[in-house]
Amino acid sequence: MIVVNEDWCKGCNLCIERCPVNALEESDTINRRGVRPPRLKEVNECNCCRLCELVCPDFAITVIPEEKKKDVKKPLLRSPVGGINR
Ligand code: SF4
Ligand code: SF4
Repeated sequence: MIVVNEDWCKGCNLCIERCPVNALEESDTINRRGVRPPRLKEVNECNCCRLCELVCPDFAITVIPEEKKKDVKKPLLRSPVGGINR
């Protein structure tokens, strides 16, 4: 996912133009600088490549990678609960 600090955006659209999977578009809202900051399209293929974050000259975008699901290993029981240890 991406987080846009909307009031920092100056509307240069570099992020929208450079996104390799065309995941961004201008939002409907106008910020304090009088421009439409970017947002993720409703249906998008953002892969968290961070290019938009890197190209933004005003540091208005932060990319937060999807958390990888951690392998939670359940502890193995040495013997069945209530069973007899042999
Ligand atoms: S690159 Fe940064 S300043 Fe330019 S439109 Fe995108 S968020 Fe706004
Ligand atoms: S992180 Fe990459 S894929 Fe996602 S919106 Fe930014 S440039 Fe596009």
